Amino acid sequence: MKIPLETARQIATALGDSSNLYLAERAIADNFLYNEILKQVLALHAVEVINGLHQIELDALISRLRPRAPQAKAKAAARWAISQTDMHRDLFIRATCDACNQSMTFTGPAAGLRSEKFWHCGHGESVPAEILAQYAAQQNLPSAQVQADIEAREREMENYKIRQQNRIVPV
Ligand SMILES: [Zn+2]
Repeated sequence: MKIPLETARQIATALGDSSNLYLAERAIADNFLYNEILKQVLALHAVEVINGLHQIELDALISRLRPRAPQAKAKAAARWAISQTDMHRDLFIRATCDACNQSMTFTGPAAGLRSEKFWHCGHGESVPAEILAQYAAQQNLPSAQVQADIEAREREMENYKIRQQNRIVPV
């Protein structure tokens, strides 16, 4: 880049050493100064360019520039499952959320779980009635029967997932 001599002298003077013209070359190549100059040049022409924009371009520009109102996050729904501890085969209900990665287990008599909530993603979910009913029913079953029940339901869920994945999507 060739800086006109007079301009180089003015830049060097502004930088405090009028005799060092090489300073002007280096200053223009300096990242910080380069960006500052560019901003000023851009600002000088901004109004003129904005006024010359097509209305569609202008609308698009304005909508890009306006800070967006924070979008309300969708409240993710938890997954609920009944399971048994490995050690004592105690029944429990587990709620997990894939969105926030939180999980919670519920144990004890089914009646007492009606008022319990799994708090995550900014909301509290009660144990679904269906899960609660299954849990209550299984609490009265012998342990082996419960295990068979759980496994059967897991297989059912797995099959359902496979069916969903293999579903032909119309194009
Ligand atoms: Zn969540």
